[in-house]
Amino acid sequence: MRLVPKRIHCVSCEQRLWVAYHAQRTLMTFRGLVRLRLVVWRCRNQGCDLYHLPYRAEEEGAWALPHGEFGLDIITVVGQLRYGEHRSIPEIHQRLVERGVSIAERTVTDLLERYEELVALHLADEERVKARLKQQGQVLLAIDGMQPDVGHARALDSPRLFVRRGAAGTHFAQ
Ligand SMILES: [Zn+2]
Repeated sequence: MRLVPKRIHCVSCEQRLWVAYHAQRTLMTFRGLVRLRLVVWRCRNQGCDLYHLPYRAEEEGAWALPHGEFGLDIITVVGQLRYGEHRSIPEIHQRLVERGVSIAERTVTDLLERYEELVALHLADEERVKARLKQQGQVLLAIDGMQPDVGHARALDSPRLFVRRGAAGTHFAQ
């Protein structure tokens, strides 16, 4: 599976990004072992704030956490079995093995911790967004890159906060 960043221009200076190197990851998923070949890009503009910073494919985050060897599909199921169905670690381990996942029981405990971190991060992120929205008087939401209505935007008092949710996460622009 070859993953290439969708973004081709630097978020800071808007110049074209260049291929820096290729990376490889092998993940255990419910579909078996998946090898990701990642094309990593960099900004070559030496005057840019993001000079030399790697851009990895946005899609990579949908497959796995950084440095993780197991896919998010498996981590999600571990969390669902524990908190949705109140299964014990040995029971969860058994289920995974039945579904063809080769995994040690102690690794199930690690994956459950990753799941708990993800849930905590998600909740903290929502709280942060709510707090920011409260702080700002007027708020416009532009979802998935949709441009907010300009006439409407001008009519509102500043400061304004634009929240855009995309594949690469949540971006703030004031
Ligand atoms: Zn740049």
